[in-house]
Amino acid sequence: MLKIKLNLAASIGIGLGTAYLVKQKTVAIDKALITGQQKKEESDRFLKALKNAGEAIKNLVELDQIFSAHLEILNDDILKDSVLSKINKENKNAEYALYETCSELVRMFDSIEDEYLKERKADIKDVCERIIHALSNKNYDLLQNSRDDNIIVVADELSPSQVAVLDLNRVKGFITRTGGITSHVSIIARNNNIPAFVGLGDKLEKIKPGDFLILDSIDNEIIINPSHTVINSFKNKAKKYYKDTEAQKNYLSQTADGKKIIICANAESHEEIKLANQKGFDGIGLFRSEFFFMQREDTFPDEEEQFNFYREAAILCNTRKLVIRTFDIGGDKPVSYLLNQKESNPFMGLRGIRLSLSLKKVFKTHLRAILRASAFGNIKIMFPMIVSLEEFIAANQMVHACMEELTNENIPYDKNIETGAMIETPAAVMIAEDLAKEAAFFSIGTNDLTQYMLAVDRGNPLVSHICDTFHPALLRSIKKVIDAAKNNGINVSMCGEFASNIKALPVLLGMGLTEISIGVNEINAVTNMLSSKKYYELEKNIDELLKKSTIGEIKDFINLMY
Ligand code: PEP
Ligand code: MG
Repeated sequence: MLKIKLNLAASIGIGLGTAYLVKQKTVAIDKALITGQQKKEESDRFLKALKNAGEAIKNLVELDQIFSAHLEILNDDILKDSVLSKINKENKNAEYALYETCSELVRMFDSIEDEYLKERKADIKDVCERIIHALSNKNYDLLQNSRDDNIIVVADELSPSQVAVLDLNRVKGFITRTGGITSHVSIIARNNNIPAFVGLGDKLEKIKPGDFLILDSIDNEIIINPSHTVINSFKNKAKKYYKDTEAQKNYLSQTADGKKIIICANAESHEEIKLANQKGFDGIGLFRSEFFFMQREDTFPDEEEQFNFYREAAILCNTRKLVIRTFDIGGDKPVSYLLNQKESNPFMGLRGIRLSLSLKKVFKTHLRAILRASAFGNIKIMFPMIVSLEEFIAANQMVHACMEELTNENIPYDKNIETGAMIETPAAVMIAEDLAKEAAFFSIGTNDLTQYMLAVDRGNPLVSHICDTFHPALLRSIKKVIDAAKNNGINVSMCGEFASNIKALPVLLGMGLTEISIGVNEINAVTNMLSSKKYYELEKNIDELLKKSTIGEIKDFINLMY
């Protein structure tokens, strides 16, 4: 028995299984020079491999967005033209030409420090490796030589393509020589609750193919060829760990007297959804779709691009809900390709739902993409910046028009999809009772609600001292919205920052809020607070609190009573 002690795990858990060593170069490159007659044959062989590799990657796009980037690389003329030129002008066989092209492309990235571009280098290598496999007609499945059901995959590094084809039911752990906790293998491991250590360096040499391994990333050690007694004790440790983690998740989102509070996460990317999954959130209560639009400089993403993006988000959420807020562009979130007319007061300008309704074609594309993705998960649609019932109804009508189109085109979507309203303007607060008759749910956006209620620019440091959600106008508004939702039997959540304010949360629960959506990193503070409060005692001081007329009185009262 041998032990390797390590410092940091990429994914927490305990896994037991047989070491399966993945060789770095899975296919040897046959570098050969060819004759004139062979040029056509080699060019055709390369083009066929390119096509096959493309088909294989297309099937993986659903799994991870990284494969969309791989498709782009594969379809880029630079790669194709360079390989064909080396075959036809330099008399190199397809493998040789591809290998050289890949090395040249990778070298271009060598001197660059930028993290994002470094990742692109790994992507190019990954795509070239895949085409080389296709050239040799080799199966890409790493585990093809093993029948074992409990495998610890050990490798120098693992590319996204390699990880994507693994049968993760059989993989009980990952160990790699290189890579960091943000590398693809680490992310996949965390998403699937598979323990992992990455960046082992030379310590990896101690592991030989077929060794029995215990990977314990709770106590940061790998045990090689342990005795039966040790194996049994770790099996028990694993059983207890996984049972406790489940119990912990349930316990953490409860108050001291056992009231379950639904805690969803606010997210802007797939990465954040994965993080939220890992931390045990109940779903995504606010998916800020506009960030996908803001990452681009040229034009609006088309339906297909958006569909792929939302579908992956839905798949990641599994059965948990994913509330996609329709793009809240404008105000503090402009996109360069749209807002070329200068607005002197963009926060009061063409933003949120009013922008969407003025761009019917763009909005329709957006809604169709979201609806199509709804066939893959538990999606709900939420409209931002609502100020009138007419706006909500108009937006809803567009959703229904898109549904009708999809039905006629035989495209699947969730026919029972719910649409809700963000309550983030004073007008929406005042008509909350009316809105609650049309909307399936509310989410209170206190960031904007504070800005508009108190007439303070939320990003202006000169007035930040005035931007205080503990203002009586805000607390009374929040209570009014919660009551309106309850009176009409619809769900109400809060996705503004106030929901994770530790001083505010007991008050919000006292007002009857039982669902919040918060930043992924706020979870510990929020769950600690929840578990220290008795839900059924929080209500009793609310009436008195809401009678206070200054921020100072309110804060003093909360400090005293909560
Ligand atoms: C809000 O306004 O409270 C909100 C959650 O939306 P955003 O911060 O994206 O405007
Ligand atoms: Mg807002």
